[in-house]
Amino acid sequence: MLLGSTQTVYASVSLNCFYSDQNIIAKNSGRNIYSLLYDGFSASDFSDYRSNARTQWSNAGVSSSYVSRLYDSNIELYGGKESTLSQIDADIESYWALTINVVNSKTGTTTYQGKTISLYELNRVQVLCPTHLFTSPNGYKNMFTHELGHSLGWIGHSSDSDDVMYGTAGSSRNTLTTRDKDHLKQMY
Ligand SMILES: [Zn+2]
Repeated sequence: MLLGSTQTVYASVSLNCFYSDQNIIAKNSGRNIYSLLYDGFSASDFSDYRSNARTQWSNAGVSSSYVSRLYDSNIELYGGKESTLSQIDADIESYWALTINVVNSKTGTTTYQGKTISLYELNRVQVLCPTHLFTSPNGYKNMFTHELGHSLGWIGHSSDSDDVMYGTAGSSRNTLTTRDKDHLKQMY
């Protein structure tokens, strides 16, 4: 063993499918969620949307945990009015909702059908879910599941409008499709 060596060897990843419009896929090894509701949502709605998202990804093979201290987390999930969340990141005003990779690192590359796919590790992620977008719970369930998907490593968007990971939010879909699941779970 070489003490002081900074070289890290990563396990190779072979992809069986790829549905993102970006040639990047990531893994989040921690998956410890610290969540905080500032304003806007009722506490019970926020809790429902959050747990629906977590359960869906867990059923897809990508589990996560809640932690009570920010210190122990690597996914920060914030709910609130757009004006409140803009104090965390002003870009929220340009997006419907936002997942920010605060700390990430490239861990390697692989190929899929002739394309070079970059592999990343997500070390710290912030998820911002604003309140003003929908009139129905289904829209928010879609939004939370979509954003949590990004925070778990689903980078980019699906081009299939049936998928939760499609680029444009919708109120009619909130259940992960086989494509949504298969794309991400191969990293775990
Ligand atoms: Zn998105």
